[in-house]
Order: sequence, then C-alpha cells, then structure tokens
Amino acid sequence: MTPATPDRAALHAFLERHQRFLLTTHVNPDGDAIGSEIAFAHWLLSCGKQVRVLNDSPTPAAFGWLANPLGIEVYDEALCESRFAEADALVVLDTGNKQRIGRLARHVELHAIAVAVVDHHVTHDGFGQVNVVEPALASTASLVFELVGEAGWTPDAHAAEALYVGLSTDTGNFRYSNADARAHRMAASLIELGVAPEVTTARVSASAPAGRLRFFGEVLAALEVLEGGRLVVLEASPEQFARHGLVGADTEGLVDMPRIIAGVEVVALISEVEAGKVKVSLRSAGRASIDQVCSRFGGGGHAHAAGVQMRGSRQNARDRILPELARVLAALGDAPAEGGRA
Ligand code: 5GP
Ligand code: MN
Repeated sequence: MTPATPDRAALHAFLERHQRFLLTTHVNPDGDAIGSEIAFAHWLLSCGKQVRVLNDSPTPAAFGWLANPLGIEVYDEALCESRFAEADALVVLDTGNKQRIGRLARHVELHAIAVAVVDHHVTHDGFGQVNVVEPALASTASLVFELVGEAGWTPDAHAAEALYVGLSTDTGNFRYSNADARAHRMAASLIELGVAPEVTTARVSASAPAGRLRFFGEVLAALEVLEGGRLVVLEASPEQFARHGLVGADTEGLVDMPRIIAGVEVVALISEVEAGKVKVSLRSAGRASIDQVCSRFGGGGHAHAAGVQMRGSRQNARDRILPELARVLAALGDAPAEGGRA
C-alpha cells in the first residue's frame, strides 16, 4: 500500500535504512506508550531487525504483561549508554517532545543517533530526522497500526493485543471524543485478528492492589465542585501516596471518574507524589479545550486530555491552573448547567 503522507513514506525508508533499533517513549508511560512500543518492536523483529526497548520510567503494573517475552528495560546510566552505542537508530513513540523522554534525552545529544518520532500529540518540537505526528489519530497505536498496514504486515496476536491496549486506554475505553469511526474500525480489525476485548481489558484494569481503590475513595470523598458545577478538582497528597504504598502511575483512571457528575465540563487532578513535585491532569467532557492551559506551563497533550508537571506546592499549582480553567469555562459562553450542584 502507498504511504498516506510523505512523512510516513520517509519513516518507511528510515526503517529500511537502519538495522539496529532502540525504541523509547515518554516518562510515566501509559497504555498507548507501552502498547505502541511493543507492537512497533514486534513489527521490526518480523522484518529481521534488532530491537531493544528502553524507557526512563518503569513499566506500570497494569501493562507489565505486555512486555513479555521481549522485555522493556528501565533507565540506568550504563545500560542506556551501551544501548545507544549498539543502536543505529532511535524511534520515539507517543511523544515528540525531547524533554519527555527523560534521562534518555542527554544520550540522544551525546550520540548524534538517527531519530524518528511517531506520535499523535499536537504539541511537539519535531526533534527527529523523520517526524510522523498525526494529531487526528486517537492514539499512537492507531498510527502504528496504519503504518504496519502500509508495510503489508499483519500484526501477530501479541502485537494486535498491544495495539488494542494503546487504542482502548487512550480513548478511555472508547468513551472520549477521539473514539471516532476510524478508532472503532481499527478495534474491529484487531478483534478480527484475535483480540478478545473483555480479556485484554481485564488484563489492564484488573491489576490493582486494594489500596489503590481505598486511595481513590479517599481522594473522591474530598472532591470539590467549583465554577457553578462545571469544574471538579481532586487533590492527592504525598502522605496519601505513601500510606497506600502507591506511585504516580497509580492515579490512572481516577481523573475520569468525576465525569459521571451531571454538568461537569472539566476535571482537574492535582497530585503531589513527592513533596514539591506536582502533576496536574486535566480532562474535558468535550466542549472545553484544556491543552493550552497545560502548554502554558510547559506541559501538553490533547484538547480533551492534557497534563503538566509543576514544581512547588499543590496550592501553588491550584493558584496557577484554576484561574486559567475558570477563563476557559467562562469562554464557553453559557450559564452553568442546571444540574450543576455542589
Ligand atoms: P495524563 O493526565 O493521563 O497523565 O495525560 C493526559 C495527556 O496529556 C496524555 O496525552 C499525555 O501524554 C499528556 N501529558 C501528561 N503530562 C504531560 C506533560 O507533563 N507534558 C506534556 N507535554 N504532555 C503531558
Ligand atoms: Mn497516546
């Protein structure tokens, strides 16, 4: 099949040109990051290439099973150094922002390695020699799926499942506005390739320790309803993470829950995993665009799902983010919904 764009054609040529690949993704990887890496790795292996996958952050427990049997390595200075020395090309998936690959960024500079970026985020600095960045696609996995199709490869069972994880997690299990016809068509193709949605979804979601739900319960019990019912704010403290034995990745799914409240347009989760290290996650129910709020402070994402890391206290993060959200909500130009009640 002919590649759909010149950038895609350039990527296919890039993959043909190189032999020993290192794959990576953003810090605190999500299902799309890991799923895309795994599927991409299987594709390259099927082409007879050498492949290593190395990330700055550990793989969250929910996606650990996807890593087998290939293995996803976690950053260590010496290990990273030897992986860069061995490789002749780096493929960065699910981010086009060099800072977002964490400690690997420095090695990219040291090694002057050939870089290709495969991503679907709006905000990127295109640091690859080849950049395939398609914000119209629901997930990076969608882009990988279309790329392998263009190359004439049929994903094997494991790659198909990895792609399904990427697609289903980035669409909030097909509930977000990016769950369009193209996303559903891709899901249908993956099911035809043998993916069982109930099995794959259970592997991802039924992986939490009980403490995670207790933590969710605590955070949700303290939710604040602001801006006439249109904004919900959640906060999690370092003490709560520590007491339940959790890490930042354990908040996955939490920010989506308040959206079941009638009239909510935006949800903000302000989590301070360690004292002074705050992560803000924003979700929009579909009308408000919240990515600029994050990019203004150095983060990014999509119109309806975005995030940013901030230094300082939770109060400091609130003082910066909440007025911006109030402005975005005011610009929607209508009165707060009838059902909006605190
Ligand atoms: P989450 O809130 O689930 O961590 O992230 C939602 C979306 O925002 C994802 O697409 C993610 O890639 C993006 N995102 C989250 N945190 C950051 C950040 O610190 N910087 C950038 N550029 N994007 C982020
Ligand atoms: Mn993604």
